[in-house]
Amino acid sequence: EENAQGDEDKVYIVGTEPTFAPFEMKDEKTGEITGFDIELIKAIAEDQGFKVEVQAMGFDGLINAIKTGTIDIVASGMTIDEARQKEVDFSTPYINSGLALAVQADNEDIKSVNDLKGKVVSVQIGSTGAKKAQELKDQGLLGEVKTFDTVDIVMREVDNGNVDGTINDLPVTNAYIVKSANSLKVLENLTSEEYGFAVQKGNDLKAKIDAGLKNVKENGKYAELEQKYFQ
Ligand code: GLN
Repeated sequence: EENAQGDEDKVYIVGTEPTFAPFEMKDEKTGEITGFDIELIKAIAEDQGFKVEVQAMGFDGLINAIKTGTIDIVASGMTIDEARQKEVDFSTPYINSGLALAVQADNEDIKSVNDLKGKVVSVQIGSTGAKKAQELKDQGLLGEVKTFDTVDIVMREVDNGNVDGTINDLPVTNAYIVKSANSLKVLENLTSEEYGFAVQKGNDLKAKIDAGLKNVKENGKYAELEQKYFQ
């Protein structure tokens, strides 16, 4: 056990954008923010002897909030990528994910990412999905990218027929598909990505999170959460 010493009273602020079930979402009954990422960072905090307070905020504001010290930790399904690594430090990866293209379940027109010429997709602002969609547009392979603040709206836009499809993280799209009684379908996986918890550059919180993650993987708590959120 590599528990941190003397950190018992410290409360770290965890920033998250809570429309990203099953990773982070508001509990329908209590209104409290929960989800895989939230329970995982709480388990890590408990293992390492610190406390966390969860704060909802816009996804595109998270990196800056770390840099200015408004929040201490990002737990928001955030993909570890080169651009972000220049601005923050990431924990060791805690789960694999990746982007997928989804459309309305009865869409016969679009069968793969090669059929998006002149089409419109919805994405979340500041996300890797937004970046991917912009790349496709720049290559002339996609008509228009519509950007929204939260993922619930990103998905609803497809459901409403306001856009042709979405590029979003596969586990989140899959959870939406289950919740919406299969109103959408996934056509294609586009990337493989890994999520990490982000902290300020050089902050020793990274070492604590990494040590805690290792411990909760070893003691079965991680498997328990995986079972709860991804069975
Ligand atoms: N994993 C994606 C990213 O890091 C999307 C995360 C999110 O929308 N919460 O950009």
